[in-house]
Amino acid sequence: MIKLENISFDHCIKCTVCTMYCPVAQATHLFPGPKQSGPDAERLRIKNPELVDSSLKYCTNCKRCEIACPSNVKIAEIIQKAKWNYVKIHWFRPRDFFMSRTDLVGSITTIVSTITNFVVNLKITRAFMHIFLKIPFTRQFPPYAKGTFKKLYEKKISKTQRPFEKRVAFFHGCYINYNNHSLGQDLIRVMNAMGYGVDIVKEKCCGVPLIANGYIEKAKKNAKFNIAHLSKTETPIVSTSSSCSYALLHEYKEFLEMDNSGYISRLDYITKFIYDEFSRGNIPKMKPLGIRAAYHSPCHLERMGGVMYTLGVLKKIPGLELVILNSECCGIAGTYGFKNENYEISQAIGSALFKLIDNANPEFVITDCETCTMQIEMNTKYKVLHPVTLIAMALKE
Ligand code: SF4
Ligand code: SF4
Repeated sequence: MIKLENISFDHCIKCTVCTMYCPVAQATHLFPGPKQSGPDAERLRIKNPELVDSSLKYCTNCKRCEIACPSNVKIAEIIQKAKWNYVKIHWFRPRDFFMSRTDLVGSITTIVSTITNFVVNLKITRAFMHIFLKIPFTRQFPPYAKGTFKKLYEKKISKTQRPFEKRVAFFHGCYINYNNHSLGQDLIRVMNAMGYGVDIVKEKCCGVPLIANGYIEKAKKNAKFNIAHLSKTETPIVSTSSSCSYALLHEYKEFLEMDNSGYISRLDYITKFIYDEFSRGNIPKMKPLGIRAAYHSPCHLERMGGVMYTLGVLKKIPGLELVILNSECCGIAGTYGFKNENYEISQAIGSALFKLIDNANPEFVITDCETCTMQIEMNTKYKVLHPVTLIAMALKE
């Protein structure tokens, strides 16, 4: 049965603009492009689901085609649904299973992070992962932190947040919880400087890696958990991950078809929240940074229309010389670039961005997305910072 709300493919006017903007179609002939794999093929697939072809797996779900489409065709959504709703996978895929179980892997590895970080970087481990798990030999992994951010918050930070009358709830996501505590601490410093105390709520992985790897039922379970806990809050909710924000705001409703109305009007990607506060005059005291930095806009933030808020906030930081890169997809697309079969395409997609960064010759690169950070740090000599970290660096103590 065709659902009327799912026939956006019928609005396609065959202009092919989406294919021009698709980074995968530019990088490889193995993917025919969004027009052909999306609206064109969907007409056939709804008649015969067996017409799903294997080239769909090359789509990174970056959504750049949807940004470009003048007819608002939900191209990436059509492709994702075709990939996972028609093709049922019945065999166990260890690599994809563990890569998408960020909470399971993160909660174990953060207990033994020193050993994990050492072992993962051994050549013999790399060779094993390359041959048996099909993970590229040269792909770098972000180091795991000691313990989780959640425990750090409960032990040391929560009591410092009590005096604040105004509150925000913070969806910290897996990257802060298991890899980068300091970004979470930067967020708390910035919020406190703006007069907000920070609460954290119970959360599970937002589900982005689960969706990307086809574990749709598990993604729905996580979404149900997050929706229940976020809906119980009464304060504004912020997230420092552009991809988590995209999932919580859009993928839950549009792709997983779940009701997220209990919190959606209160949740913002962090720079939108800060931009609104700055516009109301709530700007913390900042000292000049004296830094030249290049800004890369992540795909999912572009899809949400959030780049203008990040730029608006960055422009308020004194002494920050900003080079705005005319950048496209970095190529990593979550777990996509961590797979042997996608590695070359992932690197080819990112190569234009790496050159742009080198030409800009900044002291730092700024971006909002954790996996863009991993890709840029692996392929250039530059340290990548989150916009919130830049504000934290500029704060006057
Ligand atoms: S989501 Fe990205 S990779 Fe997939 S078809 Fe659209 S532009 Fe291409
Ligand atoms: S950009 Fe939109 S309207 Fe144009 S070919 Fe692609 S899907 Fe069709």
